[in-house]
Amino acid sequence: MDPSWAKAAVLLGTVVMIAIRAPHGQRSRSVPVAKSQKGRREVALLTMAWIGFFLPLVWVVSPLLAFADFPLRAAPFAAGVALFALGLWLFYRSHADLGRWWSITLELRERHELVTGGVYRRIRHPMYLALFLYCLGQALVLPNWIAGPSYLIAFGVLFALRVQAEERMLLEAFGDDYARYRARTKRLIPGIW
Ligand code: SAH
Repeated sequence: MDPSWAKAAVLLGTVVMIAIRAPHGQRSRSVPVAKSQKGRREVALLTMAWIGFFLPLVWVVSPLLAFADFPLRAAPFAAGVALFALGLWLFYRSHADLGRWWSITLELRERHELVTGGVYRRIRHPMYLALFLYCLGQALVLPNWIAGPSYLIAFGVLFALRVQAEERMLLEAFGDDYARYRARTKRLIPGIW
C-alpha cells in the first residue's frame, strides 16, 4: 500500500484527538486546583509522552525517520484504523463524562467529585484505555519501527508509573466511596483487569 494512506490516517487521528482535548484543556485553566501532585516524576513522564506523541508527526512531515520504514500492508492498516476509531470515540466519551474534573496531570480540583457513571461505570481508567487503543492503532497503521510504536511505549511507561499514584490520591480524597468504586470496577478492561 502507498504510505500516503498511513500519513493521512496519522494526521487525521492527531487532529481529531487534539480537537477532542482542546476545549477541556482550555476550561481546565479556569477550574481552581485544590491539590496537585505534579512532581518531577510527573513532568518527566509528561515530557516523554509528548515526545512519543510527536514522533509520528515528524515521520509524516520529514524523511528524518525514513531509515526505519517498512512496507505498509492492508490488513494491519485496516485493523489500526478500526482501533483509532474506537480509541477516539472512547477518548471523546471519557472527556465528556469526566468533565471539569479532567487534568493533564495528577490533580484534584476544588469541590472535586468522584465520577462513577457513563464510561466510568465498569472501568476506572477509560481515558487511559482510549489512549492505549489509539496507540495500538498507530503502531499498526504507521509502517516505521520508531514512529509506529513511539507513543505506545511512552504512554505505556506513563500509565505503569502513574496509575497507582492516581488511585492512591483518589482513595485519600474520597475514602470509602472510592474503595467501594474500586471494588466493583476493573482498571482498564471491563470484567477482566
Ligand atoms: N485515569 C482516568 C482519568 C485521567 S485524567 C481515566 O483514564 O479515565 C486524570 C485526572 O482525572 C486525575 O488528576 C484525577 O483527579 C481525575 N480522576 C480520575 N478518575 C476520576 C474519577 N473517577 N472521578 C473524578 N476524577 C477522576
